Amino acid sequence: MRALTWQGREKVSVEDVPDPRIEQPTDAVVRVTSTAICGSDLHLYGVLGMFLDAGDVLGHEAMGVVEEVGSEAGNLRVGDRVVIPFNIACGHCWMCERGLQTQCETTQVRSQDKGAALFGYTKLYGQVPGGQAQYLRVPQAQYGPVVVPDDGSPDERYLYLSDVLPTAWQAVEYADVPPGGTVVVLGLGPIGQMSARIALHRGASRVVGVDLVPERRAMAERHGVETLDPSAVDDLAAAVRDLTSGRGADSVIDAVGMEAHGSPLAEATQKVVGVLPDAIAAPLTERAASRASTAAPRTPCR
Ligand SMILES: [Zn+2]
Ligand SMILES: [Zn+2]
Repeated sequence: MRALTWQGREKVSVEDVPDPRIEQPTDAVVRVTSTAICGSDLHLYGVLGMFLDAGDVLGHEAMGVVEEVGSEAGNLRVGDRVVIPFNIACGHCWMCERGLQTQCETTQVRSQDKGAALFGYTKLYGQVPGGQAQYLRVPQAQYGPVVVPDDGSPDERYLYLSDVLPTAWQAVEYADVPPGGTVVVLGLGPIGQMSARIALHRGASRVVGVDLVPERRAMAERHGVETLDPSAVDDLAAAVRDLTSGRGADSVIDAVGMEAHGSPLAEATQKVVGVLPDAIAAPLTERAASRASTAAPRTPCR
């Protein structure tokens, strides 16, 4: 099959790779019909190369049609239309039973002190081949895949269930916006857009989205979000206070990716680490990544 592979720092290419096959009874193989690209893929593209091997298949936001199932793939059937959540969980371990699927004890990568394995996301998360490919092997298929209606609607209606919607939902959950409160969403990329809409859906009375890009602000405004252009105000916090009778926001969601434009310090740090030998760069980068993920436990999407 053809798949998007990582080949080196800032170098990816579509290559012929072996077709995935059932390796465990709990596996399924899915023919991928759509896959999203993620801000987190930029970490792999530019920063986390020391944790990848040339040829690793990228992608963690896929959906498609089940082509083959193992003997213990539960209720999943060949022909099911499915969205594949980015983290791989068993559904029956101590962590999964407590709703902590990102720490699944069946798939967690103990050698790296990490949580559950992820699709297409480095040796730190199991080096599982990803979904930017024609076919995807799905481990723990008895639990992970979300079966969606085969109702003729376009994939985009369901695709964001793999990462964008749950990540944004979790951001709103953590933000704990009081009923009738105001939340500021910093960054209006996919996670920011979805967070803003979910916050309104869940009862925030005002959502203020902040982004430098006019098209992103316009998209948010179409969905009832007020917006601010940080380049057009001297003091963003003061601008928010002006909008809220001097009180400021009740909650803030940071949905700006680590490789975002307009973050010169982060960019410089990544460039410096990026030219170090892997043995030195890996621990530095991992520590930085750990700090980032402490702020947002639901990796990888930021
Ligand atoms: Zn589990
Ligand atoms: Zn993602």
